Amino acid sequence: MLDKLRIVLIGTSHPGNIGGTARAMHNMGLADLALVAPRCEVYGSESHARASGADALVSNATVYATLEEAVGDCTFVVGASARVRHLPWPMLTPRALGERLPGECAPEAAQAALVFGREDSGMTNGELQRCHAHVHIPTNPDFSSLNLAAAVQVLTYECRLAALGADDAPETPFGVEWDNPPASHDDMERFFDHLEQTLIDIDFHDPDNPRQLMARLRRLFMRSHIDSMEMNILRGILGAVNKQSRALARQESHDGNG
Ligand code: SAH
Repeated sequence: MLDKLRIVLIGTSHPGNIGGTARAMHNMGLADLALVAPRCEVYGSESHARASGADALVSNATVYATLEEAVGDCTFVVGASARVRHLPWPMLTPRALGERLPGECAPEAAQAALVFGREDSGMTNGELQRCHAHVHIPTNPDFSSLNLAAAVQVLTYECRLAALGADDAPETPFGVEWDNPPASHDDMERFFDHLEQTLIDIDFHDPDNPRQLMARLRRLFMRSHIDSMEMNILRGILGAVNKQSRALARQESHDGNG
């Protein structure tokens, strides 16, 4: 299970936090570190010094330009957030996150990611809306933000505890053996693009007055944990809607000309 858990750091600005994260991960038996658009030197002496014996994780860390690329293959993505956001999102405690992981990681194609934000500004709403759930470490409400590497330590510790006790884990997120593999983050993003364009085409969605429509639809579909067959059906429905609305548009222009 821990080998299917990637730690993703977005826009890190202190190399010491990259090293500290590598150390925390290696302590807990994780190895997959992804860095999205880091704002500091990644492979230099400061990150290596803080990594102590976990240098290999820093050297092997993969740098990505965007969050989408870092989690494209993921089937379960959780964002760690120090603050409660305006649009409520499914929320996990660190313990509940650990308890979910064995099931989420059980399908063969499963890949999970735990995403952390910038030291100064955390994660953007857009980034948080790409997650299935958020996790918050219950801290002093007057001083809620942990050091980045410390937050990684707390959450990966819970994941390790869960992995150690996971002998009788459910077979999938739904507690029974599922018939189809989960949809990946890439599949979901292509679907959201297709959905948004279709809703614009049929005049349901006005991108100039979005009113959180796509955020709410994202929340709905992320919450329901779509599998790859369901994804094919949804894309098929959108394709049929596109075909009909093109036919209607042709008909209207034909009628108009005649
Ligand atoms: N000042 C930022 C917090 C930055 S801390 C803000 O207000 O959002 C850097 C990252 O560590 C956060 O983006 C988050 O991923 C993680 N983190 C810090 N404290 C946390 C907490 N209490 N619960 C969950 N994640 C936390």
